[in-house]
Amino acid sequence: SSGDDHLDSLIRQRRDLVGPTSMLFYDQPIEMVEGQGVWLFDGDGKRYLDAYNNVPVLGHCHPRVIDAVAQQMVRLNVHTRYLDEALHRYAEQLLGTLPLDSGRLVMTCTGSEANDLALRLARLHSGKQGVIVSAAAYHGNTAAVTEVSPSSMKQGQVPDFVVCIDLEPLNDESLDAAAYLDTQVANAIELLDERGFGCAALLIDTIFSSDGVYADPAGALAPAVRRVQHAGGLLIADEVQPGFGRTGSEFWGFARHGLMPDIVTFGKPMGNGYPVAGLAAPEALLAELSAQTGYFNTFGGSSVAVAAAQAVLDTLVEEELQANALSTGNELLSGLRGLCDEFPQLARVRGAGLFIGVDIVSADNQPDPLTCSRIINALRHRGVLIGAAGLYGNVLKIRPPLCFKPEHGHLLLEQLRQVLINDLGGVTS
Ligand code: PMP
Repeated sequence: SSGDDHLDSLIRQRRDLVGPTSMLFYDQPIEMVEGQGVWLFDGDGKRYLDAYNNVPVLGHCHPRVIDAVAQQMVRLNVHTRYLDEALHRYAEQLLGTLPLDSGRLVMTCTGSEANDLALRLARLHSGKQGVIVSAAAYHGNTAAVTEVSPSSMKQGQVPDFVVCIDLEPLNDESLDAAAYLDTQVANAIELLDERGFGCAALLIDTIFSSDGVYADPAGALAPAVRRVQHAGGLLIADEVQPGFGRTGSEFWGFARHGLMPDIVTFGKPMGNGYPVAGLAAPEALLAELSAQTGYFNTFGGSSVAVAAAQAVLDTLVEEELQANALSTGNELLSGLRGLCDEFPQLARVRGAGLFIGVDIVSADNQPDPLTCSRIINALRHRGVLIGAAGLYGNVLKIRPPLCFKPEHGHLLLEQLRQVLINDLGGVTS
């Protein structure tokens, strides 16, 4: 059909014009032309339930953000070299949600920049170089942050100054999770000391998104974090994934674990799609960097970025989206656990709020990335978008906009059930 010809031509253009560094989703890529709330629409007007994208936290094309950005764009858009009351108001409100002592806000454009800066601060302050991360972590795309992102390493290992912690043992319910994590961190610190790097930071996304979503048990990270801080390392809480209410019970992922971070980094949902990110750290820590190089980010914290961020924060509160994440998330979690009891391919469900991972396994109970990919592609054909995560790529990652309602959850569950009954061709490796 002409639609297929059009898509084939787009795929050729993509190959000939766009760097092979950026991959497309799905066996049959989609051209999206419109978004609204939890819905995306392709060129044929087909509607997809977006249960994957955590950037449009309020929903795609939310009018509040559009208006705020448009109005600010008309009036003024300058960087942070001028006084800006709107920035101060936003910083006060955001810092007010954080447990930092004399916390200050630094605005960036991406989560990668925020983590890059966080690493510099931790290394400068501790005088050490080593970093502890989770085994399939992703923390961004700068040269420094790629080194601490084991999920980006397609060949070989992370550098010697990085030690990774495997989270999969947490699936064993008889395990003492807090003791396990504490022991792993103790070993990591010892290894980093032996190698002469020392431990500058434990850098974690507390929902462990790319490891396959490890939410529980809440609180299990506390002893490990205390150990790092006692050894002079900093806790960098990467809130790019769990932050801004997604996990339901708390506004921040680290708060679910009762942690006191030294540095908190933000990204993705902060601007609902407008590039806004940043970092919060104690004034004294930032002063150390100021004495060295300082930090300026041309577009970070610009007038328009602040307008977008403020609209997001206000709307999150007004529309009570954190509470929705909790209630709708719990309903979806229990629906998925029901499917888990029914279908052997679904081994277990983990999650908090609207951040859920489902392990897909083979008949002999091994991680099954192929079936995982089949499920994701079959759902795409049925108009539901989710993704994959985990060390083996065998975890369904479900992470919709926070305006996702129970009716959307029901649709997802029904389509997933149909996929499991009808679309796997009886072949489940
Ligand atoms: N940290 C985490 C946990 C992330 O998931 C990501 C993006 N996937 C980043 C940092 C990097 O953010 P950005 O793509 O905005 O640079």
